[in-house]
Amino acid sequence: MTDVQTRLADIRHRIARAEKTADRPEGATRLVAVSKTFAGDDIRPVIAAGQRIFGENRVQEAKAKWPELRAETSDIELHLIGPLQSNKAREAVELFDVIHTVDREKIAAALAEEMARLGKRPKLLVQVNTGLEPQKAGIDPREAAAFVAACKDTYGLTIAGLMCIPPAEESPGPHFALLAQIARDLGLAELSMGMSADFETAVGFGASYVRVGSAIFGHRDPAA
Ligand SMILES: *Cc1c(COP(=O)(O)O)cnc(C)c1O
Repeated sequence: MTDVQTRLADIRHRIARAEKTADRPEGATRLVAVSKTFAGDDIRPVIAAGQRIFGENRVQEAKAKWPELRAETSDIELHLIGPLQSNKAREAVELFDVIHTVDREKIAAALAEEMARLGKRPKLLVQVNTGLEPQKAGIDPREAAAFVAACKDTYGLTIAGLMCIPPAEESPGPHFALLAQIARDLGLAELSMGMSADFETAVGFGASYVRVGSAIFGHRDPAA
């Protein structure tokens, strides 16, 4: 096994252990391997080790990397975990199977239009700014219910769940608990929460997706 394959196996093991500790069914949390900034040759060993769900935060970068990788392996599931601009909605619908970052009406409208045009319906999650951080994307938790309702009633979109990125300097547990509570109140199944530093905590709070990058691929070039 390569280093990256050893790290992937370790993360899978830790997710399974956290599921067990939390009395959740095995496989209840799916691993999104976040491959942003890494090249195809860094990603291939992870695909070879059986990983099929990958996350990217930029539409353009994903478009440059993934068509070739997907031509080699048919059952890749690609997730957009970074902010989406409405002028990239068409490419996002074309490329991604799951979009975690729906956070305003303009994006909901653009996605609805492109989904109708392309006849393709990626799974959609709403990003919630649980820490109310001004620099961070996501809707105010108090507006989550109204926003999810508007996605459905105004734009005909099915929202499958919620996503959050807790403030870096805070303990993540309360943020994961808040996201889980809102999802429960709204009857939404998917919870995208937890990254390299805190994915086991997120599993404990009911994450259905954890998004793990550096703990699998190694440190990213900060300039990239
Ligand atoms: C980069 C990124 C991740 C992965 O972060 P790591 O700390 O490297 O695991 C997860 N979620 C989002 C939204 C990201 O942009």
